[in-house]
Amino acid sequence: MKTKNEPKILIVEDDASVGNLIKTSMMAHDYQYLVAQNGKSALMMVTSHRPDIMLLDLGLPDMDGIEIIRLVRGFSAMPIIVISARDTDSDKIAALDAGADDYLTKPFSVDELMARIRVTQRHLASVQSDTPEKAVFTSGDLAVDYHAGAAVAGKALHLTPSEFKLLCVLCQNAGKVLSYPFLSKTLWGNEWEENIPSLRVFVATLRKKLAAGNCPRIQTHVGVGYQLIETD
Ligand code: CA
Repeated sequence: MKTKNEPKILIVEDDASVGNLIKTSMMAHDYQYLVAQNGKSALMMVTSHRPDIMLLDLGLPDMDGIEIIRLVRGFSAMPIIVISARDTDSDKIAALDAGADDYLTKPFSVDELMARIRVTQRHLASVQSDTPEKAVFTSGDLAVDYHAGAAVAGKALHLTPSEFKLLCVLCQNAGKVLSYPFLSKTLWGNEWEENIPSLRVFVATLRKKLAAGNCPRIQTHVGVGYQLIETD
C-alpha cells in the first residue's frame, strides 16, 4: 500500500528515452507516476488524476510547455518542475514567471531530480499541514511571523521594511527559484523597474543577518534570481 508521503508524479515528456529514464527513477523510489506525451493529454491528466507534482518538458509536439504552466496555474497550485533543454536565463525566467516552481536543464542528473522532488514534497507537506494563509514560517533557528517580524533562535532580527518584505516572500516561496522581475514586482510594485543592484544589496544584508544561527540560506541563481534553501 502506498503511504501518504509518496506523491503521484505526472511526467510530461515526448522524448521516449528521457521519459523512460524518469520513469525508471520513479519506480526505483516507489513513486506513483503517470506519463503524458503531449500537452493535451497532460492537461487532461491534471484534471482527471490530480497528480501531486508535474515534471514538465517545454518542447512538446502540440503546445509549448510555458502555455501548459499558464493553463494549469489558472486552476491549480500543484508544483511544476520544468525539465528542459532550453538553458538561457530568459527561458528560465519565462517558465518561473509563468508559475513553474523549479527548473532543471537537460541533460540532468537523476540524483538532482530526486533531490528537487524531495524539496518540493517537503514544501507540499508543510503547505498541506497548515491553514491556507500560513502566518509563521520556521526553518532551523529562523522563525518568521509574516505579520509581526522575524527572530533567530528567539532573538528578534532587526530588519528594514524592505528586508523584511524580501525575507517574507523568500520564506513563503521556500525552495522555489524567484526571478528578478518577480522580486522587483513584490518589493517595488513594478516588474519593469527591475532593480537588480538594490536587490543584491538587500540580499547581502539579509544573508549577514541570517548568518547568526542555523538559518536557511539564500542561493543565487546567476542571471535568474534567488532561492531560499531550508535548513535541515
Ligand atoms: Ca521535447
